[in-house]
Amino acid sequence: MLNIVLFGPPGAGKGTQAEKLIAKYNLCHLSTGDIFRANIKGETELGKLAKSYMDKGELVPDQVTISMLEAEVEKNPKAQGFIFDGFPRTTPQANALANFLTSKGTSISVMLALDVKEEELIKRLLLRGADSGRADDKDENIIANRIKVYNEQTAVVADFYAAEGKFEKINGVGSKDEIFSRLCNAVEKYRVESN
Ligand code: AMP
Repeated sequence: MLNIVLFGPPGAGKGTQAEKLIAKYNLCHLSTGDIFRANIKGETELGKLAKSYMDKGELVPDQVTISMLEAEVEKNPKAQGFIFDGFPRTTPQANALANFLTSKGTSISVMLALDVKEEELIKRLLLRGADSGRADDKDENIIANRIKVYNEQTAVVADFYAAEGKFEKINGVGSKDEIFSRLCNAVEKYRVESN
């Protein structure tokens, strides 16, 4: 199985590149942000809870997020592999994912971390906010908080995968195709190793 953690701060281009990666490698895409947004749209209890955090740019509590992610993996027993997009965002989430995948007889192949400078992130998020309909992309204060939360709680997750020799930093600036080709080069390295 090829299991990828697609990592990077908000606005790094994870969603865009995830779409290209799933098409090429035939993977199941699990974006915790997208799943929360679908729950908000469907007005579920989980959606109501998630919204109260997302509206402030805060993280949804670990236990809720982990249970939801595990349930989504369980819904896809035939998947040839997964792209985890926006998850794990804390060290407890990374530990939970490792234990869960071990119980399924698999593991993360590689973390691909898109590297983009803060100024560029803010520019991209505000542009996206103009037509994505995402409230958390429209407000500069919420954007600033999301980047702060990333720096304080999420960036450290890279160390978890670096310690396992599974961390690849990818330059996230350039054309979509250039960035995609950098990602594919990195994937190929780990695909060979995991065969
Ligand atoms: P995203 O679409 O990945 O930018 O996520 C949007 C928002 O959903 C985040 O700002 C968080 O409030 C919430 N969220 C998404 N993924 C996670 C996660 N793994 N842990 C906690 N909160 C999350």
